[in-house]
Amino acid sequence: MSKKNELIQSVKGTRDLLPADTPLWQRVEDEARKVFEAYNYREIRTPVLEQTALFARSVGSDTDIVTKEMYTFDDRDSGSLTLRPEATASVVRAYIEHSLYNEPGIQKLYYFGPMFRRERPQKGRYRQFYQIGAEVLGGDHPAIDAEVLEMLALLLERLGLKEFKLLVNSVGCSKCRPEYLKVLRKSLDEVKSRLCEDCQRRSNTNPLRVLDCKIEADQPIIEGLPKIIDHLCPECRQHFDAVTMELKQRGVEFEVVPRLVRGLDYYTRTTFEITSGLLGAQNAVLGGGRYDGLSEMLGGPPAPGIGFAIGQDRLVLTVEAASSLKPAQPLAAYIAWMGEATREAATMLARELRRERIGTEISYHPIKLRKAMGAASKLQVRYAIIIGEQEVESGNYQVKDMGTGEQQSVSAGEIAGFLKEKLREPAPAASPVAGQQ
Ligand code: ATP
Ligand code: MG
Repeated sequence: MSKKNELIQSVKGTRDLLPADTPLWQRVEDEARKVFEAYNYREIRTPVLEQTALFARSVGSDTDIVTKEMYTFDDRDSGSLTLRPEATASVVRAYIEHSLYNEPGIQKLYYFGPMFRRERPQKGRYRQFYQIGAEVLGGDHPAIDAEVLEMLALLLERLGLKEFKLLVNSVGCSKCRPEYLKVLRKSLDEVKSRLCEDCQRRSNTNPLRVLDCKIEADQPIIEGLPKIIDHLCPECRQHFDAVTMELKQRGVEFEVVPRLVRGLDYYTRTTFEITSGLLGAQNAVLGGGRYDGLSEMLGGPPAPGIGFAIGQDRLVLTVEAASSLKPAQPLAAYIAWMGEATREAATMLARELRRERIGTEISYHPIKLRKAMGAASKLQVRYAIIIGEQEVESGNYQVKDMGTGEQQSVSAGEIAGFLKEKLREPAPAASPVAGQQ
């Protein structure tokens, strides 16, 4: 219990995104929405709370997420609940629960939202973090995989990012992976004693995860282990070759990384990751892959799927590091009124401009001209509108362009139209505004 009057701070690994941060988050979300919708994805929103069994069964009871990282508690009447550590399982659950498989064609769904994992917090790694993700359910054609990756490349391009790498691999299917695991286990038995402690444990519990080890000293040994890509069954091999061929046709650059496996049990065939050199240690911006058996694992009909999750926190860091997005549009107008007799006219103008979607601020008290100009430049508005008693009488208000200093008289009824016209032009270069997208 905290003492009375003691400062209460945010929970370790969580953070507040302040108004200085959120414009970039919104821009990233807007761009993602536009790109996804151009590819015919539709938004789905699932709860943050799910039955613990959902993740144990899909993500896998042997994974780091399920064994160490989940926020799980016993609810008074609903049994064991968990704050979702990822959303693919939830989306597939909803797909089954609402029989979306009965709708015609393939389902393409996207989501935004917070995820929770009890990890060691550091730059780019938080306990509450945000993902932007998408899932395609009901098809396993290699063109779907290639289209997903093409879409991701477009999104990063639209965000102005150039320094990223798309890594792809295939982790096989329920037919060929067990065969590969036998071969891998055999090789691991020979080298296990020279690997790190985690890898020794993984060799027994989840040998595929050894390939994912980041410990420097283990790398040469891991390089020498058999590669899953050399042990694919003919169907998986053909699928993978078709995906890479299509990526080339679509002009999507990629690199095949035979060691790339993902930390969740449900993945099959195509797996991928995009990394950015701008991020440092936590360099994975997004990860994803195919999961053809997941629907059945969750009690649904056969419904092959593929999806990805972008770490939005890391994506925003990357966009920031690349300074690739222009600053957002600032506020358009500030209304300054001088004397009680002008209050009503000013209030009504503010109401009108806001209804016309022109971003407007107004002083709540009557204000002196000099102070008003100071307030307008602090707000970095493009126009200040000055209303004194004389203006109210004549019905013409003073509109001052804060960039050029030019001032003109515009009739009250025409101000909204005048500003709309003006705001279509980019702001002059000298102002802090770099223009609209
Ligand atoms: P990592 O190897 O970085 O732990 P992961 O394999 O656990 O990533 P996924 O479960 O595939 O990650 O999630 C997809 C993306 O979500 C990651 O590529 C990353 O950008 C982001 N992500 C995962 N965990 C966190 C976290 N704790 N904080 C911030 N972002 C995260
Ligand atoms: Mg992780």
